[in-house]
Amino acid sequence: MALIVSYPTPAGPRYGLVIEGVIHEWQASLFDDDTFTPGRPLMPVENTQLNPPVQPGKIVCIGRNYAAHAAEQNAAVPDEPMLFLKPPSALIGSGATIEIPAGIGRVDHESELAVIIGRRARRVSRDAALDYVLGYTCANDVSARAYQKKDGQWGRAKGFDTFCPLGPWINTDLDPADVAVRCRVNGELRQDGRTAQLVFDVPALIEFISGVMTLLPGDLILTGTPSGISELHDGDVVQVEVEGIGVLENPVRVLQP
Ligand code: MG
Repeated sequence: MALIVSYPTPAGPRYGLVIEGVIHEWQASLFDDDTFTPGRPLMPVENTQLNPPVQPGKIVCIGRNYAAHAAEQNAAVPDEPMLFLKPPSALIGSGATIEIPAGIGRVDHESELAVIIGRRARRVSRDAALDYVLGYTCANDVSARAYQKKDGQWGRAKGFDTFCPLGPWINTDLDPADVAVRCRVNGELRQDGRTAQLVFDVPALIEFISGVMTLLPGDLILTGTPSGISELHDGDVVQVEVEGIGVLENPVRVLQP
């Protein structure tokens, strides 16, 4: 079991292992080492501006995967997983600022469990699906509702720079079947669901998605958001917590034109 972070150095991003709140060196690549042998201790993780813990080739997201969220959007629960993509350029790490361009209307948080693929997955069965997972982290699928509605598809609404906070780290040893997925804004609880409420669970999603497109190491699956979405405003601090992983925290700023 390991908690894997990406931290900045003058030579570029490095991976490390978090042990009792301290980042340790890790002389390994993300996908080739399951011994997780730590090197020397470096610094407390809480004082470090973290990178997103992975650089995916693609971010596959699931719409309306909690019945209570579909209901609050006055939308039906789909009979198959509803896939859309977010661009990797939208990623930011924990602590970085969500930047909302002024005048784009209501922008909401969506707390989600994120799955990080560990090896190439093509037409994988649900029984074998979890063998293809490197680990799990927290994600915020930030969404501009007016564009979602106006455009009829979600590329713009969910694709703005900074609209995919991810982190703080990867937990390689989580059972994703029934963990709490929460969101707090300025300390106030807004979303409080459990992955047991997913319409399509993690193995079903990997089976379905890998039947459509090959999943490669580092690719991300955002599994959908529970009910309780709400609008973000300038100066807010939004926290996504997945039980067993940790807290992804990002301040919000509205960019004036
Ligand atoms: Mg979402």
